[in-house]
Amino acid sequence: MAPWPNNIVCPIVISFDLDGISGTINRNPASKNLPTLMSMREYGPSIATPRILDLLDSHKIKSSFFIPGFIAETHPELVLDIHRRGHEIGNHGYMHEPPATLTSQEEENVLQQGSEILKDITGQSPVGYRSPSWELSPDSFEILKRNHFLYDSSMMGNDVPYLIHTKKAPIVEIPIHWELDDHPFFNYSPFLNQTNVMASPQHVYSVWSAAFEGLYKYKRTFVLTMHPWIIGRPGRLSMLDKLITMIKSFQGTSFMACKDLAVLKEHDYM
Ligand SMILES: [Zn+2]
Repeated sequence: MAPWPNNIVCPIVISFDLDGISGTINRNPASKNLPTLMSMREYGPSIATPRILDLLDSHKIKSSFFIPGFIAETHPELVLDIHRRGHEIGNHGYMHEPPATLTSQEEENVLQQGSEILKDITGQSPVGYRSPSWELSPDSFEILKRNHFLYDSSMMGNDVPYLIHTKKAPIVEIPIHWELDDHPFFNYSPFLNQTNVMASPQHVYSVWSAAFEGLYKYKRTFVLTMHPWIIGRPGRLSMLDKLITMIKSFQGTSFMACKDLAVLKEHDYM
């Protein structure tokens, strides 16, 4: 039996974590006093995201944006634009708090706070969660299930969606991996002691296209995670455009939001 319905060979998820300034402030509140660092991060929501939305429209692709509540509060028009263009909006905490750094009660509080802010803007509660920095806590899945989330997207245990059991019922996991993330390749933030040599777009294209070809061959899922402040720089975005065009040339690739992939898993097509 084919692993996917509707002649799909390889589902493709292009997803974005719209962190803006939140992640660096959460990691070190003194970041707020550094105008250049703040401007580098603010470039994400202010300059890069509208450009990314136009790229997605040009390819007729629906995507998922995971947005911290603080970023949504400070950019409600942008969140509404993302929603109106048909993309999914998922929960990404309030100030980009990795659950592993919180008590169980704090974790539930910021989850609910994030969802309420997103619902106030779009009219819909998010059904998906991606943990900031991919640092879940041991309680995360119970908390997500208790708060009626359909899926999480923070784990690395497979390359197709899988189920994680909780006391109540299983929750769908849409797995990710650092290989398919722009941050390890391009991030350069001296203030945070993150001073890797930045990769060239050509190098990242070669890594991501090889990952795609392998996942396609084995009929798995391609889930790409990016950050507008990183991938939205024009040379990198041109690389993403080229990558999408290459993926579309393979028969049976189907671009979808995380939640649509989670629904496929819920219906147990695999
Ligand atoms: Zn993030």
